[in-house]
Amino acid sequence: MKRDVGRTTRDLRRHNRTSVLTRLYLHGPASRFDLMRATGLSSATVSNVVTGLVGDGLVAEAGLLDSDGGRPRTLLEVRPGFGQVAGVDIGETHVQVGLFDWTLDTLATATYPMDEGRPDPALLAGLVTAGIEEVTAKAGTDSAALLGVGVGVPGAVLPDGRVHAPTLGWSGVPFDGLLRPHIAAPLHLDNCARTLGQAEMWRGAGRGAERAIVALLAVGVGAAVATGSPGGVTSTTSEWGHTVVEKGGAPCRCGSRGCLEAYVGADAILAHHEQQPGAAELRGSGTEQRLAALVADARRPGAAADTVRWAAGYLGVGIANLVNLLSPDRVILSGWVSALLGPEVLPAVREVMDRHVLDYMTGGTVLELGRLGQEAVALGAATLPVHELLTAGGR
Ligand SMILES: [Zn+2]
Repeated sequence: MKRDVGRTTRDLRRHNRTSVLTRLYLHGPASRFDLMRATGLSSATVSNVVTGLVGDGLVAEAGLLDSDGGRPRTLLEVRPGFGQVAGVDIGETHVQVGLFDWTLDTLATATYPMDEGRPDPALLAGLVTAGIEEVTAKAGTDSAALLGVGVGVPGAVLPDGRVHAPTLGWSGVPFDGLLRPHIAAPLHLDNCARTLGQAEMWRGAGRGAERAIVALLAVGVGAAVATGSPGGVTSTTSEWGHTVVEKGGAPCRCGSRGCLEAYVGADAILAHHEQQPGAAELRGSGTEQRLAALVADARRPGAAADTVRWAAGYLGVGIANLVNLLSPDRVILSGWVSALLGPEVLPAVREVMDRHVLDYMTGGTVLELGRLGQEAVALGAATLPVHELLTAGGR
């Protein structure tokens, strides 16, 4: 009985620390008074919690805020120097490891191209651990001192850590078990579209959105549905890439036909280009290099421009379906293919989307590009240990 009371008090303290810390982490500097209003906690509780967070090095004072006529208020903010996290992007074409401070500013990155097709899980696990050592060495820190390591995979992660990733040819691969013996810090694995959604909501183009759809365009295509609230963000993944946009259409690697991924995935775009009469040979060896060459060629009229417009049409249809189904206030195109196609393709996608979205919804959804740059997916993975830290009240 006594132990239950102790546990309840501890839970309450942790809950209060999580509320204050999450508010500061997601929405930036605030005074004790702002924190009181945002969390609904009493002035005494906020003071206590803040004293604890400052003492633990998570939060620091950030100057004074004039309040009309009254005493100036002290602003508080999260302290980047509290600790560091690593995020790993297991793509279909590369492995990227990023080292970030826990507020998600990039400190160092390492990118390794990988064999496309069916990569060997043990080989990939080796690249991940080498990458973590490389980025921590670059930044002059110790990998064992990291707050945590997050790994984003292009597939589903089961509760026991096994990974199903059709684009990698993985079915039930015990990837967690391959990594864990070599990583001293707490390790978290999750679907990369879901974590990317979380990252765009926390630090990117999703900030302030109520319901954003974050599309991850790469070789595979996925989307996260991310919901923001004053208390935090939830992000769930969807198999958007395997919704059908053409009945009986192009074969998809999932075994079905006419899936969106079979039209707007990087391989699908390149394959379509090759079939165009008069298409020039694309320079470069890997998928990323060849798609970059295609986008460069598409700046003048010809087969490359036609291919990009063709893909933009399917992308517009896929987005319109999402909008009609979920009425998000924002749709964000993220991932390396979005970064390459960039602003040039947005007007064409928007035009097709507008043609298929119901009239009364058209004005309600903003379409834009992600703002997290080349490290977007690695940064998304890095939100996993940070989320864990926030949930634990910073302990
Ligand atoms: Zn499919």
